[in-house]
Amino acid sequence: MALINLLDFDLDGLAAYCEGLGEKRFRATQLFRWIHQKGAADFGAMTDLAKSLRDKLAGVAEVRPLPVAAEQASADGTIKWLFDVGGGNAVEAVFIPEDDRGTLCVSSQAGCAVGCRFCSTGHQGFSRNLTTGEILAQLWYAEHHLRARLKLAPGERAITNVVMMGMGEPLQNYGALVPALKVMLDDHGYGLSRRRVTVSTSGVVPMMDRLREDCPVALAVSLHAPNDALRDDLVPLNKKYPLAELMAACMRYLEAAPRDFITFEYCMLDGVNDSDEHARQLLALVHGRGEHRVPCKLNLIPFNPFPESGLLRSPRARVLAFAKILQDAGIVTTVRKTRGDDIDAACGQLAGEVQDRTRAAERMKRLPVRVVAAPADARHKPH
Ligand code: SF4
Repeated sequence: MALINLLDFDLDGLAAYCEGLGEKRFRATQLFRWIHQKGAADFGAMTDLAKSLRDKLAGVAEVRPLPVAAEQASADGTIKWLFDVGGGNAVEAVFIPEDDRGTLCVSSQAGCAVGCRFCSTGHQGFSRNLTTGEILAQLWYAEHHLRARLKLAPGERAITNVVMMGMGEPLQNYGALVPALKVMLDDHGYGLSRRRVTVSTSGVVPMMDRLREDCPVALAVSLHAPNDALRDDLVPLNKKYPLAELMAACMRYLEAAPRDFITFEYCMLDGVNDSDEHARQLLALVHGRGEHRVPCKLNLIPFNPFPESGLLRSPRARVLAFAKILQDAGIVTTVRKTRGDDIDAACGQLAGEVQDRTRAAERMKRLPVRVVAAPADARHKPH
């Protein structure tokens, strides 16, 4: 009989599961804290848990980590892990340390069905949704591995922020996403504030509305184009949920959002979406129309080229000129730092190494756990 993966449960789910074993909710809370706060996977080590419960769990349940297929670590502390999710599929998570925070970029799907032109993951196609346990296993591993690696004091956290900005469109894996978010936010779990957990979406409008109701966290929207014709081409989901609908959904989301702005991501593609005219259209889109004046911050992302895309990075001067038009109009606009294009920094490129479906398992085994002493890109994907 397959063992139940306890990483699949939020606290209510774990309480219901424990109730099925004849245990009270407070026992589930103890168990939950052992798993997520202390990083324990061995029931025998959970010393204040009733022995009867430990014995019951031992035969039927487990805390199932994801095997690490590869690791890339940079001199600046950025670490990218490739996790084996079976069947020749792998997903990536990236830890990005900064002075005042540690951010983990987490994947929600193996591959992605949205198929954005500038995204390495999108070019690999869609394999499958991750389970809640597989989403959380990335955080569980990273947090507890880093605490030991960085020699943090007891109670000190390595990860203060999570961005659902790794491989996949999180809102197309909604059922698994929401319990995972709840564990991140739970005081008995990772205790992160809603402002420090960000879901990044390419614009799945109905699910934005549901997230607003079910679990409002910070929202980032991958815009990448200021008009429907261009966005239809770059982000094909736009054909289903065009910009006017997306902007209206952003306004609705803000009614419940923990932050009073939406972050718009905009990947700068040379000669494609980076002209002064595009900047003015963008301005009109987010700030210019009375009915859709969306409080926002804009994050311009220098594109990380990969061969299949046929696209190039906008020159730095062009990015700055584009930013200036927006800044002059009063929109907070930042340009994301790029670091180390030399370690397959674009999201999905490392995973792409193992996605030869015919010999995937064999290739996965050959991937070393490697340390690259070069600056890594904090950016996981153009989301
Ligand atoms: S950018 Fe995001 S939504 Fe688009 S293909 Fe890549 S992972 Fe999917």
